[in-house]
Amino acid sequence: MDATITPKTQVATVKLLIGGKFVESKTTEWRDIVNPATQEVLARVPFATQAELDAAVASAKDAFKTWRKTPIGARARIFLKYQQLIRENMGELAAILTAEQGKTLPDAEGDVFRGLEVVEHASNIGNLQLGELANNVANGVDTYTLLQPLGVCAGITPFNFPAMIPLWMFPMAIVTGNTFVLKPSEQDPMVTMRLAELALEAGIPPGVLNVVHGGEAVVNGICDHKDIKAISFVGSTKVGTHVYNRATLAGKRVQCMMGAKNHAIVMPDANKEQTLNALAGASFGAAGQRCMAVSVAVLVGEARNWVPELIAKARTLKIGAGAEKGVDVGPLVSCAAYERVNGLIERGVADGAKLELDGRKPTVPGYEKGNFVGPTIFSGVKPGMTIYDQEVFGPVLCVADAENIDEAIELINSNPNGNGTAIFTQSGAAARRFQEDIDVGQVGINVPIPVPVPMFSFTGSRASKLGDLGPYGKQVIMFYTQTKTVTARWFDDSTVSHGVNTTISL
Ligand code: NAD
Repeated sequence: MDATITPKTQVATVKLLIGGKFVESKTTEWRDIVNPATQEVLARVPFATQAELDAAVASAKDAFKTWRKTPIGARARIFLKYQQLIRENMGELAAILTAEQGKTLPDAEGDVFRGLEVVEHASNIGNLQLGELANNVANGVDTYTLLQPLGVCAGITPFNFPAMIPLWMFPMAIVTGNTFVLKPSEQDPMVTMRLAELALEAGIPPGVLNVVHGGEAVVNGICDHKDIKAISFVGSTKVGTHVYNRATLAGKRVQCMMGAKNHAIVMPDANKEQTLNALAGASFGAAGQRCMAVSVAVLVGEARNWVPELIAKARTLKIGAGAEKGVDVGPLVSCAAYERVNGLIERGVADGAKLELDGRKPTVPGYEKGNFVGPTIFSGVKPGMTIYDQEVFGPVLCVADAENIDEAIELINSNPNGNGTAIFTQSGAAARRFQEDIDVGQVGINVPIPVPVPMFSFTGSRASKLGDLGPYGKQVIMFYTQTKTVTARWFDDSTVSHGVNTTISL
């Protein structure tokens, strides 16, 4: 797809947000934002210039001087107001999201809602950004910590959760006293921009939140920028690894949440109906375009016979445009994604996996141009096959099998990715064994998509994460602040010292 086209005047353009104003980019590079169910061009997004990135960073740097000293209660109240505005505009936000991204309207509301939960968490900052104090560490001496904001922070987000993931980032960065430059996905930035408008309406002052658009060049500019102190990235492992290496080399604090291959172990004692429903929902919901989608089911022992019933569940799902009622599986985000997923299904067949359910080229009346792929199931999948080794990011479930739980755990721990996993069982002992021995960030026990609620942090193991602190939750307070340790003595008659002390003691 050609990303560099000149804007036509009749199509709306997405603005940059710099210094509290929504401004038209002066770039010559633009990309269409396309409804993936219809191919209708909804708007055009600019690829911002270096001067525009510099202006966004400069406005954030300037705003930091006053924002860092804004009382904690004033910061909290902005996010209280913001959560209310998001609730009031939920229907509109979900409709924008569905139009540009493709997921169903209820799932789009879920996308906004999981971000809204982080905004609610941000409004609780008074209980979160607290230092520690030890009294009388020496005679008349106290030691305490200040958690101070870093300065200008930046966020780079993927296409698949264009509401939730930006909301993982800028509310927590800003509420801790930082200012922010956000670079949303160029594929679906419109809902993110509506969220930015609502953030200003809630009272975020000019320059505290800025938004630039673009791809590789802007991302590299963010990694290299001398005035950006920290970067939060969510996206593919390839790009995240590049961002981590480049930005840490430039001295920044960086966290990268990256790609996945999420396995669900199905033990023979699992509740069959619940498990099959959970697998079908978690594999094919959002057309498999979730970093926490279940993409491999590992059937253990007798559960290996459940494939026909799993196929029957998948067949009940309705494929269609996300804006239509009753739809379960919307289109893939782009024509490029459509080509890639179809190509990987072909590779699966060529590599010798058994294509149990073929979702290619489904009939979707009224949406013949949409990027639809229906639920697809392969059995007999093994490491070394491309559909197993690569993240498909489409509605494709690989079924592998294992003799016992040890073999299943070994398979998962041997995969390079460690984002999410789940076990379905009625055995507490098996579940406990799994949670102890599995090397994966998010672990579900009879929960197929165990995305943590905001008082906990999202995390990841191995190729799914770089950096040691996760987004939102307690960890992100540490990520967005610098700990300063103060050791203080106030003299009075009882503590005044006599003579020079040349030792290291206090
Ligand atoms: P992506 O890596 O292609 O894009 C992510 C961001 O990087 C976008 O803002 C994009 O503009 C930018 N980018 C793209 N190519 C670049 C390049 N060559 N150099 C610099 N920047 C570049 O990811 P995506 O396709 O938008 O999202 C899907 C991926 O994100 C999947 O791999 C999925 O697993 C992952 N993801 C992970 C999590 C998580 O929490 N672990 C959550 C959501 C998505």
